[in-house]
Amino acid sequence: MPDRPLTAIVTGGSRGIGAAVVDRLTTDGFQVNAPGRGELDLSNLATVREWAEAVEPTPDALVLNAGENIPCRLAEMTTEHWLRTLDVNLNSSFELIRSLGPRMAAEGSGRIAAISSCFSFRGRSGRGPYAASKAGLNSLVRVAALEYGPDGVLVNAVCPGFVMTDLTRQNNDDDAIAQLASGTALGRLGEPEEVAELVAFLVGARNSYVTGQTMVIDGGYSCQ
Ligand code: NAP
Repeated sequence: MPDRPLTAIVTGGSRGIGAAVVDRLTTDGFQVNAPGRGELDLSNLATVREWAEAVEPTPDALVLNAGENIPCRLAEMTTEHWLRTLDVNLNSSFELIRSLGPRMAAEGSGRIAAISSCFSFRGRSGRGPYAASKAGLNSLVRVAALEYGPDGVLVNAVCPGFVMTDLTRQNNDDDAIAQLASGTALGRLGEPEEVAELVAFLVGARNSYVTGQTMVIDGGYSCQ
């Protein structure tokens, strides 16, 4: 990583995991650009492309965090719903990586972390486009790691289990949350700051050899 103040772009930094990542990277000395939905709506891919091509400076770290998960069973799902989730969670990440990856590679360094999910490798009823988008994100990360690795850019995915954020509260009532907690080895949901800690390692100067990985952080939820 270069010997100057580091810069980062974090999507979805307004709340939840993204806000914790912004705080943590700021504490670590990064100058963080966290565009809100008004500046960068990830459901509009043409806008995402334009934004990524124009943004300055080329970031040292790119955290692809923003995502949506509106539960709906496949039989009731509209095509529009399916495609929108794929655009926000996966296709916008492709646009950001393909615009910014080459610029990071030209600098000879850079770190990208995508916030995936444990549902990238598990199923859950009502989470069709969400699970598919996160599985796609894992694959995108592996390919980007191979394509940009020779130029010093490290690319990884982080797969949280259940983290106490608006998204989790929106999709699970208190009983469901208690049940999810009891399904983990640690008996509790994660906190956004705990995910931010892993992200900060992956996109920071201390990470020199982890790339192309999907790192699970779920309190042991996937052990069973
Ligand atoms: P959250 O509290 O719902 O926050 C979502 C963030 O994404 C917000 O900043 C939101 O902006 C932004 N966002 C959503 N749609 C957007 C769009 N079309 N354009 C731009 N920004 C958009 O979610 P979270 O729980 O922190 O989740 C963050 C990431 O972690 C997501 O990718 C999620 O899939 C993943 N994850 C979460 C959990 C969990 O248990 N919470 C588990 C596994 C993975 P606004 O404030 O404008 O709405």
